[in-house]
Parts: sequence; structure tokens; C-alpha cells
Amino acid sequence: MTRVAFIGLGNMGGGMAANQAKAGREVMAFDLSADAVERAAAAGCVKAASVADAVKDADAVVTMLPAGPHVRQVYAEHILPNAPKSAVLVDSSTIDVESARAVAAQAKAAGFRFADAPVSGGTAAADAGTLAFMVGCDEADFAAVEEIIKPMSRVTFRAGDHGAGQAAKICNNMVLGISMIGVCEALALAEKLGLDPAKFFEISSQSSGQCWSLTSYCPWPGPVPAAPSNRNYEGGFATAMMLKDLKLAQEAAAKAGAATPLGATAEGLYALFDRLGGGGRDFSAILEMLRGNVVNSTRAG
Ligand code: NAD
Repeated sequence: MTRVAFIGLGNMGGGMAANQAKAGREVMAFDLSADAVERAAAAGCVKAASVADAVKDADAVVTMLPAGPHVRQVYAEHILPNAPKSAVLVDSSTIDVESARAVAAQAKAAGFRFADAPVSGGTAAADAGTLAFMVGCDEADFAAVEEIIKPMSRVTFRAGDHGAGQAAKICNNMVLGISMIGVCEALALAEKLGLDPAKFFEISSQSSGQCWSLTSYCPWPGPVPAAPSNRNYEGGFATAMMLKDLKLAQEAAAKAGAATPLGATAEGLYALFDRLGGGGRDFSAILEMLRGNVVNSTRAG
């Protein structure tokens, strides 16, 4: 039986680890939060006492941690010194390209196969095993990485070498952050012009304004029943997480000398929404700020 060590059992990792167990793998689960480990055990995983304990006999290690510093520390101090060299190492956290490349270099120097493999799809897709994976790894390692990812994935791309998965993820989320603001501005303007926003949705979703932020995740309640706008923007993809990803994109753009003026503006607007109290709400709730509503207490519609 394939033995997978899973480190980081939060909103995303909890569902992803459960899907590894559902696929018949032995999942050694660890998180700093004892509650998260208990939830993983209830979903069929085996409780590990530490990262070292989880990885010691692993065929594969999957990490789903908050940010670059966590990934650097957990790999340097716990995974690389304790995992068998034969283990395939997959980091699915969203982190900066530089950290991903640094960890990859350390892992490779120590004799491991490593992939940065961030995901798109949010917690619903993590629970359903339908995430999109963007992988940066050596070409020769991709088949082994894909095999580990399979129970958690709807689609998996090899974006390129180490760091390319993270580059794809932050570029994708920059598009998403910008397009959501564009859709929200248009809905707010439609309302001010006396055009029913639901009618605008119907028209634009079949015209050139059509995009994922409008037709799959409509920030106006009603037209897309599964969207967080229908549950007062709870759950979904937190504004604070979107802000983190936009900051990563801006840092990467500054280092690479790329001009990303709309990305910078989007970062500024989400930062403002975060400061106004919107950080824990789904990022599409920025519609309320753009409509001039009080961020915490009102509901669009
Ligand atoms: P989360 O905060 O819910 O989970 C992170 C988990 O890591 C926590 O349970 C925390 O206790 C654990 N952790 C932190 N340091 C640790 C350590 N040293 N050892 C073991 N466990 C440790 O975050 P999340 O929403 O699950 O996101 C995880 C990653 O996935 C982030 O990088 C995020 O940007 C990315 N992501 C999130 C979403 C989303 O919709 N939430 C979507 C795509 C990608």
C-alpha cells in the first residue's frame, strides 16, 4: 500500500488528505493543530506525532502549509532530514517562486524528487478531489508526481521546471483578482444606471464580458446559486488569501522587471477591503465596498 505523509491539514489539506485515504492509501497525517489531526483521523488517516514521525517510511510527502517561510522551515528541519530518499516530495501550498526554487534545490541536492504543485479550485474542490494542479518539476519526475496527486485532482498540468507551478498559480490568481474587480465594478455601475444587475448578468454572460468571475462565481446574489454571494460571502476564497497571492505576484513582478499595473491596483483595492474588515470574507464581497456599502453588516442584493 502506498504510504503518503500529509503535512498541513487546514481548510484545504484536510479534504485533500481525506481523498488520499479514500483512494486506499495509508495516510500519515500531521498538523500543529491537534483538532485538525483528529479530523483527519476521523476521515481515515493515521495520526502522526510529528512531521518526522509522519515522513519516516513515506513513499510520498504532500505539504499544504500557509506560506513560504513555513514550507522552507518544515522541509529544512523536518522532511529532508527524516524522509527516505526514495520519497516523492510534493508541495501544494501557494508560496513565492523563490522559496519554491530554494526548497527544490535543497531537496534535489539531498537526493529527492521534488515538485511545487499549487492548486486552484478552493475548499469545495479540495473536498471533492477535483482540484487543478500546476506542477513545476523535472520532466522525468512528472509521472511519479502525477500518480501521487491523482486522488486529489481533476486536471494536472506540468507548467515547467521547479518554480513554474507557483509562477502559473500567481499569474492565474492575478487574472482572477483583477477580473473579479472588473465584474464588481460593472455590476455596481449597472445598478446605478437603473439596469437590473441580474439582467446585466444574463446579457454579459452571453456577450464579450463573459468570464469565470461573472458566470461561475457571480458576486451578485442569485444568478449563480453555488457562488459565495448567496451565503453572505462566507466560505469560498478569503480576501486575505487573495491579497497574499496578489502580493506574491507583485513581488515576483518587481524582481522580474514586469509591468503589472492592474495587478498592483487590484492588490491595493483588496488591501483596502481587508483593512475595512473584509479579510475573512470571500473575495467577491469586494462588490459591497465598490457599491459603497458597509463592509461587515450588509448583504448585496
Ligand atoms: P489553513 O490555514 O486552513 O491551513 C494551513 C494548516 O497548516 C493549518 O492547519 C496549520 O496548523 C498548518 N501548519 C502551519 N505550520 C505548520 C507546521 N510547521 N507543521 C504542520 N502544520 C502546520 O490554510 P488553507 O486554506 O488550507 O491554505 C493552505 C495553502 O493552500 C495556502 O498556501 C493557500 O494560499 C493555498 N490555497 C488555499 C485555497 C483556499 O481556497 N483556501 C485555494 C488554493 C490554494
